[in-house]
Amino acid sequence: MVRDVIILGSGCAGSTAAIYTARANLSPLVLEGREPGGQLTLTTDVENYPGFPDGVQGPELVELMRKQAERFGAEYKTETVVSVDLSNRPFAVRTEENEYRSRTLIVATGASARTLGLESERKLMGRGVSTCATCDGAFFRNREVAVVGGGDTAMEEAIFLTRFASKVLLIHRRGQFRASKILVDRARKNPKIEFVLDTVVADIFDPEKNEVRGVLLRNTKDGTETTRNLDGVFVAIGHDPNTKVFEGQIELDDGYIVLHGWARTSVEGVFAAGDVHDKVYRQAVTAAGTGCRAAIQAERFLEAEGR
Ligand code: NAP
Repeated sequence: MVRDVIILGSGCAGSTAAIYTARANLSPLVLEGREPGGQLTLTTDVENYPGFPDGVQGPELVELMRKQAERFGAEYKTETVVSVDLSNRPFAVRTEENEYRSRTLIVATGASARTLGLESERKLMGRGVSTCATCDGAFFRNREVAVVGGGDTAMEEAIFLTRFASKVLLIHRRGQFRASKILVDRARKNPKIEFVLDTVVADIFDPEKNEVRGVLLRNTKDGTETTRNLDGVFVAIGHDPNTKVFEGQIELDDGYIVLHGWARTSVEGVFAAGDVHDKVYRQAVTAAGTGCRAAIQAERFLEAEGR
């Protein structure tokens, strides 16, 4: 059986593409991937998604989108793509369980925020530990927070967080920065930001209490350990776009899918949406918007072929 549309990924971008293609009678198959529901499942309160004046829980929002797509006939499968063959159409998509063929593909596999790899970080993710200051900064009004990282994102997030937080610790494992000088200078000039360099976060307290109470810091030069009381930890150590299976087949830039006009990728019939091509905005609403865009383009592409 050759499908009209297969959507890879089930976050905001994938499910929005599923809603639109299902309503266009294209019976989309959504392969959910390793992180069903995407990055929103790692967060709790979402207060910036339009239409929810009282906020909504991240996992609930993606579940609502999925239900909406299923209502119009989208089919979801908890399978992860292990390889694709985009050299001929229909395209071949292989998961561990099955092989599928499709006339178009919408790639919405997202990007995964890098994490420190601490057990306490995992337990407190969405409960004081965040990978998105734009999303969660406003929850930390008059609180003390830390930002971990030494790149542009860490600097931008630290500066942004000073709008809310009473103090921001910028914790970086080295003494030199990957971030541009202009951003480092701006952060240094901000009286609310304290630089803590040559230091890693060795632990986050307190998973037992289900909230962030502080951090254990370890100096990378002499190994000394100190604790600091804090209310939030923003991990800003980069993202990895989930594009491994497309390497050598779709044009990528730094791992992100390059678009050639709206949602079109370098392969005709393959469209992309969400964080897999977006390293700038990374918001649920922008992912949803680009999911809609990819769906409409896939639909028009099939229509032009007389389907
Ligand atoms: P990035 O440039 O890769 O920086 C990641 C930072 O996190 C580095 O300082 C790195 O330390 C640190 N890090 C990585 N793994 C770590 C770990 N396990 N523990 C502790 N620290 C760790 O990532 P990014 O800041 O997200 O930026 C990504 C790209 O987007 C860059 O090209 C950046 O220029 C761009 N960007 C630009 C802007 C802007 O121009 N306004 C804003 C945001 C992002 P080391 O330095 O020691 O490796």
